[in-house]
Amino acid sequence: MTGIAPAHTDHRRMWRSFDYCYPVISRRSKGLSLGVNLNPGKACNFDCVYCEVDRLVPVKRRDVDLDQVEDEMKILIELAVSGDLFKTRPFSAVKSELRRLNDIAFSGDGEPSAAKEFLESVGRLARLKRQFNLTDVKLVLITNATGFKDADVISGIDTMMANNGEIWAKLDAGTENYYQAINRSAVSLAQIIENLVFAGKRWPIIIQTLFLEWAGSGPSRHEISSYIDRLKYLLDSGIRLQGLQLHTVARPTPEAEARPLSSATLDEIANNITSELPDISVDVFYGTVA
Ligand code: SF4
Repeated sequence: MTGIAPAHTDHRRMWRSFDYCYPVISRRSKGLSLGVNLNPGKACNFDCVYCEVDRLVPVKRRDVDLDQVEDEMKILIELAVSGDLFKTRPFSAVKSELRRLNDIAFSGDGEPSAAKEFLESVGRLARLKRQFNLTDVKLVLITNATGFKDADVISGIDTMMANNGEIWAKLDAGTENYYQAINRSAVSLAQIIENLVFAGKRWPIIIQTLFLEWAGSGPSRHEISSYIDRLKYLLDSGIRLQGLQLHTVARPTPEAEARPLSSATLDEIANNITSELPDISVDVFYGTVA
Protein backbone atom coordinates (compact mmCIF):
# COMPACT_ATOMS: atom_id res chain seq x y z
CA MET A 1 0.00 0.00 0.00
CA THR A 2 1.27 3.46 -0.78
CA GLY A 3 0.69 5.86 2.10
CA ILE A 4 0.85 9.65 2.12
CA ALA A 5 3.87 10.75 4.12
CA PRO A 6 3.31 13.16 7.00
CA ALA A 7 3.78 16.75 5.77
CA HIS A 8 6.93 17.33 7.83
CA THR A 9 8.70 14.33 6.31
CA ASP A 10 7.45 14.81 2.77
CA HIS A 11 9.84 17.23 1.12
CA ARG A 12 9.29 16.12 -2.46
CA ARG A 13 9.68 19.27 -4.50
CA MET A 14 6.37 18.93 -6.21
CA TRP A 15 2.88 20.20 -5.56
CA ARG A 16 0.32 18.63 -7.81
CA SER A 17 1.37 19.62 -11.33
CA PHE A 18 3.65 22.51 -10.29
CA ASP A 19 7.15 22.70 -11.72
CA TYR A 20 8.87 25.11 -9.32
CA CYS A 21 6.99 25.88 -6.10
CA TYR A 22 6.03 23.54 -3.28
CA PRO A 23 4.71 23.77 0.29
CA VAL A 24 6.48 22.00 3.17
CA ILE A 25 6.17 21.95 6.92
CA SER A 26 9.73 22.65 7.92
CA ARG A 27 11.19 21.92 11.35
CA ARG A 28 13.75 24.64 10.85
CA SER A 29 11.04 27.13 9.86
CA LYS A 30 8.81 25.96 12.71
CA GLY A 31 5.86 26.22 10.35
CA LEU A 32 4.93 26.34 6.70
CA SER A 33 7.61 27.16 4.18
CA LEU A 34 6.80 27.79 0.53
CA GLY A 35 9.80 26.59 -1.44
CA VAL A 36 11.02 27.79 -4.81
CA ASN A 37 13.13 25.46 -6.92
CA LEU A 38 15.16 27.45 -9.43
CA ASN A 39 17.13 24.32 -10.36
CA PRO A 40 14.58 21.97 -11.95
CA GLY A 41 17.47 20.44 -13.96
CA LYS A 42 19.00 19.32 -10.61
CA ALA A 43 22.45 20.74 -11.44
CA CYS A 44 24.54 21.70 -8.41
CA ASN A 45 28.15 22.77 -7.89
CA PHE A 46 28.24 20.55 -4.77
CA ASP A 47 27.65 16.81 -4.70
CA CYS A 48 26.91 16.32 -1.01
CA VAL A 49 26.89 12.69 0.09
CA TYR A 50 23.66 13.34 2.00
CA CYS A 51 21.83 15.18 -0.81
CA GLU A 52 18.21 14.05 -1.02
CA VAL A 53 17.92 14.89 -4.70
CA ASP A 54 17.88 11.72 -6.78
CA ARG A 55 19.75 12.72 -9.93
CA LEU A 56 19.09 9.35 -11.56
CA VAL A 57 15.41 10.21 -11.92
CA PRO A 58 14.93 12.05 -15.25
CA VAL A 59 14.08 15.74 -14.94
CA LYS A 60 10.75 17.17 -16.07
CA ARG A 61 12.30 20.37 -17.44
CA ARG A 62 15.48 22.41 -17.12
CA ASP A 63 14.33 25.94 -17.90
CA VAL A 64 12.98 28.47 -15.41
CA ASP A 65 9.82 30.25 -16.53
CA LEU A 66 9.56 33.21 -14.15
CA ASP A 67 5.91 33.95 -14.99
CA GLN A 68 5.06 30.39 -14.02
CA VAL A 69 7.14 30.64 -10.83
CA GLU A 70 5.17 33.72 -9.87
CA ASP A 71 1.80 32.13 -10.74
CA GLU A 72 2.57 28.99 -8.75
CA MET A 73 3.73 30.97 -5.72
CA LYS A 74 0.65 33.18 -5.86
CA ILE A 75 -1.60 30.10 -5.74
CA LEU A 76 0.33 28.64 -2.81
CA ILE A 77 0.19 31.92 -0.89
CA GLU A 78 -3.56 32.12 -1.46
CA LEU A 79 -3.97 28.54 -0.24
CA ALA A 80 -1.81 29.25 2.82
CA VAL A 81 -3.41 32.57 3.73
CA SER A 82 -6.97 31.29 3.30
CA GLY A 83 -6.18 28.14 5.29
CA ASP A 84 -7.43 25.96 2.43
CA LEU A 85 -4.03 24.27 2.23
CA PHE A 86 -4.68 22.75 5.65
CA LYS A 87 -7.92 21.20 4.43
CA THR A 88 -6.01 18.98 1.99
CA ARG A 89 -3.79 16.00 2.67
CA PRO A 90 -1.10 15.74 3.92
CA PHE A 91 -1.41 19.23 5.46
CA SER A 92 -4.74 18.46 7.15
CA ALA A 93 -2.71 16.40 9.66
CA VAL A 94 -0.42 19.30 10.63
CA LYS A 95 -0.57 20.47 14.27
CA SER A 96 -2.23 23.84 14.80
CA GLU A 97 0.95 25.52 16.11
CA LEU A 98 2.69 24.73 12.81
CA ARG A 99 -0.12 26.16 10.67
CA ARG A 100 1.65 29.46 10.17
CA LEU A 101 3.34 30.68 7.03
CA ASN A 102 6.91 31.34 8.11
CA ASP A 103 8.75 31.91 4.88
CA ILE A 104 9.20 31.77 1.15
CA ALA A 105 12.46 29.89 0.65
CA PHE A 106 14.87 29.69 -2.25
CA SER A 107 15.91 26.09 -1.92
CA GLY A 108 15.38 23.28 -4.39
CA ASP A 109 17.32 20.71 -6.34
CA GLY A 110 20.58 22.65 -6.74
CA GLU A 111 22.22 25.88 -5.59
CA PRO A 112 19.56 28.63 -5.95
CA SER A 113 22.04 31.49 -6.25
CA ALA A 114 23.64 29.77 -9.26
CA ALA A 115 20.44 30.13 -11.28
CA LYS A 116 20.62 33.05 -13.71
CA GLU A 117 17.00 33.85 -12.80
CA PHE A 118 17.85 34.33 -9.10
CA LEU A 119 17.93 38.13 -9.10
CA GLU A 120 14.69 38.59 -11.00
CA SER A 121 12.87 35.91 -9.04
CA VAL A 122 13.79 37.62 -5.75
CA GLY A 123 12.30 40.87 -7.05
CA ARG A 124 9.11 39.15 -8.20
CA LEU A 125 8.57 37.18 -5.00
CA ALA A 126 9.32 40.21 -2.82
CA ARG A 127 6.67 42.10 -4.78
CA LEU A 128 4.19 39.25 -4.32
CA LYS A 129 4.89 39.22 -0.58
CA ARG A 130 4.12 42.95 -0.42
CA GLN A 131 0.93 42.51 -2.48
CA PHE A 132 -0.35 40.05 0.14
CA ASN A 133 0.87 42.23 3.05
CA LEU A 134 3.07 39.40 4.28
CA THR A 135 5.48 41.70 6.10
CA ASP A 136 6.36 39.10 8.76
CA VAL A 137 6.89 36.31 6.25
CA LYS A 138 10.60 35.85 5.60
CA LEU A 139 12.37 35.48 2.29
CA VAL A 140 14.95 32.78 2.99
CA LEU A 141 17.95 31.82 0.88
CA ILE A 142 19.23 28.32 1.60
CA THR A 143 22.67 28.31 0.04
CA ASN A 144 25.96 26.41 -0.12
CA ALA A 145 27.77 29.78 0.07
CA THR A 146 29.46 29.49 -3.32
CA GLY A 147 27.70 32.45 -4.98
CA PHE A 148 27.94 35.29 -2.45
CA LYS A 149 30.39 37.41 -4.43
CA ASP A 150 28.46 37.35 -7.70
CA ALA A 151 27.07 40.81 -8.55
CA ASP A 152 23.53 39.55 -9.28
CA VAL A 153 23.51 37.48 -6.10
CA ILE A 154 24.62 40.47 -4.02
CA SER A 155 21.86 42.54 -5.54
CA GLY A 156 19.29 39.76 -5.04
CA ILE A 157 20.25 39.33 -1.38
CA ASP A 158 20.13 43.09 -0.83
CA THR A 159 16.53 42.97 -2.10
CA MET A 160 15.80 40.00 0.14
CA MET A 161 17.17 41.83 3.17
CA ALA A 162 14.99 44.84 2.43
CA ASN A 163 12.03 42.43 2.52
CA ASN A 164 12.62 40.51 5.77
CA GLY A 165 15.32 38.31 4.32
CA GLU A 166 17.32 35.58 6.00
CA ILE A 167 20.38 33.63 4.81
CA TRP A 168 20.98 30.02 5.79
CA ALA A 169 24.49 29.23 4.62
CA LYS A 170 26.03 25.78 4.62
CA LEU A 171 29.27 24.92 6.45
CA ASP A 172 29.68 21.18 6.98
CA ALA A 173 33.39 20.81 7.71
CA GLY A 174 36.47 22.21 9.39
CA THR A 175 39.14 20.63 7.22
CA GLU A 176 39.54 20.68 3.47
CA ASN A 177 39.79 16.86 3.37
CA TYR A 178 36.55 16.26 5.21
CA TYR A 179 34.81 18.97 3.19
CA GLN A 180 35.91 17.25 -0.02
CA ALA A 181 34.74 13.88 1.31
CA ILE A 182 31.28 15.20 2.25
CA ASN A 183 30.46 18.14 -0.06
CA ARG A 184 32.52 16.97 -3.07
CA SER A 185 32.93 20.30 -4.85
CA ALA A 186 35.41 22.01 -7.16
CA VAL A 187 35.05 25.08 -4.91
CA SER A 188 37.57 24.84 -2.03
CA LEU A 189 36.68 25.14 1.65
CA ALA A 190 39.07 28.10 1.82
CA GLN A 191 36.92 29.84 -0.79
CA ILE A 192 33.72 28.99 1.10
CA ILE A 193 35.17 30.51 4.27
CA GLU A 194 36.19 33.63 2.35
CA ASN A 195 32.65 33.87 0.93
CA LEU A 196 31.11 33.49 4.39
CA VAL A 197 33.31 36.32 5.68
CA PHE A 198 32.23 38.49 2.76
CA ALA A 199 28.53 37.69 3.25
CA GLY A 200 28.57 37.84 7.04
CA LYS A 201 30.10 41.30 7.02
CA ARG A 202 27.48 42.60 4.60
CA TRP A 203 24.38 40.83 6.01
CA PRO A 204 23.50 38.81 9.12
CA ILE A 205 23.81 35.09 8.39
CA ILE A 206 22.69 31.82 9.91
CA ILE A 207 25.16 28.99 9.47
CA GLN A 208 23.61 25.64 8.74
CA THR A 209 25.75 22.60 9.48
CA LEU A 210 24.94 18.99 8.76
CA PHE A 211 27.08 16.34 10.47
CA LEU A 212 26.40 12.72 9.69
CA GLU A 213 27.69 9.19 9.82
CA TRP A 214 29.32 8.61 6.46
CA ALA A 215 30.64 5.19 5.45
CA GLY A 216 30.33 3.99 9.04
CA SER A 217 31.87 6.92 10.93
CA GLY A 218 30.87 10.31 12.24
CA PRO A 219 33.16 13.36 12.12
CA SER A 220 36.34 12.86 14.19
CA ARG A 221 37.23 14.92 17.26
CA HIS A 222 39.86 16.64 15.16
CA GLU A 223 37.21 17.53 12.56
CA ILE A 224 34.88 19.02 15.15
CA SER A 225 37.66 21.03 16.72
CA SER A 226 38.78 22.30 13.28
CA TYR A 227 35.16 23.21 12.55
CA ILE A 228 34.95 25.20 15.80
CA ASP A 229 38.20 26.94 14.83
CA ARG A 230 36.55 27.95 11.53
CA LEU A 231 33.60 29.41 13.45
CA LYS A 232 36.01 31.35 15.66
CA TYR A 233 37.79 32.65 12.59
CA LEU A 234 34.49 33.79 11.07
CA LEU A 235 33.50 35.59 14.28
CA ASP A 236 36.95 37.16 14.63
CA SER A 237 36.58 38.37 11.04
CA GLY A 238 33.57 40.40 12.10
CA ILE A 239 30.66 38.44 10.66
CA ARG A 240 27.18 38.95 12.11
CA LEU A 241 26.21 35.41 13.05
CA GLN A 242 22.48 35.28 13.72
CA GLY A 243 22.58 31.64 14.79
CA LEU A 244 23.74 28.15 14.02
CA GLN A 245 21.49 25.31 12.89
CA LEU A 246 23.05 21.96 13.65
CA HIS A 247 21.34 19.04 12.00
CA THR A 248 21.84 15.58 10.58
CA VAL A 249 20.34 13.32 7.96
CA ALA A 250 16.58 13.41 8.46
CA ARG A 251 15.21 11.74 5.37
CA PRO A 252 16.29 8.87 3.13
CA THR A 253 19.08 9.80 0.72
CA PRO A 254 20.20 8.14 -2.53
CA GLU A 255 23.54 7.28 -0.83
CA ALA A 256 22.75 4.42 1.55
CA GLU A 257 25.92 5.04 3.57
CA ALA A 258 24.80 8.54 4.60
CA ARG A 259 23.21 7.97 8.01
CA PRO A 260 22.05 10.24 10.82
CA LEU A 261 24.17 10.90 13.89
CA SER A 262 22.53 9.97 17.18
CA SER A 263 20.84 12.70 19.20
CA ALA A 264 23.48 12.21 21.93
CA THR A 265 26.32 12.81 19.46
CA LEU A 266 24.63 15.93 18.05
CA ASP A 267 24.12 17.22 21.60
CA GLU A 268 27.79 16.57 22.38
CA ILE A 269 28.87 18.55 19.30
CA ALA A 270 26.49 21.38 20.23
CA ASN A 271 27.96 21.41 23.77
CA ASN A 272 31.49 21.52 22.38
CA ILE A 273 30.54 24.53 20.26
CA THR A 274 28.79 26.46 23.02
CA SER A 275 31.48 25.72 25.61
CA GLU A 276 34.05 27.36 23.33
CA LEU A 277 31.75 29.98 21.80
CA PRO A 278 29.12 30.74 24.47
CA ASP A 279 27.64 33.65 22.54
CA ILE A 280 26.51 31.47 19.62
CA SER A 281 22.88 30.42 19.65
CA VAL A 282 22.74 26.79 18.47
CA ASP A 283 19.51 25.11 17.36
CA VAL A 284 19.80 21.34 17.14
CA PHE A 285 17.61 19.28 14.80
CA TYR A 286 17.78 15.55 15.40
CA GLY A 287 17.60 12.90 12.72
CA THR A 288 14.52 10.87 12.08
CA VAL A 289 15.92 8.14 9.82
CA ALA A 290 16.13 4.87 11.79
S1 SF4 B 1 24.33 21.85 -2.01
FE1 SF4 B 1 22.25 21.14 -1.61
S2 SF4 B 1 21.40 20.58 -3.62
FE2 SF4 B 1 23.63 20.77 -3.85
S3 SF4 B 1 24.40 18.66 -3.58
FE3 SF4 B 1 24.48 19.68 -1.57
S4 SF4 B 1 22.55 19.19 -0.54
FE4 SF4 B 1 22.30 18.73 -2.76
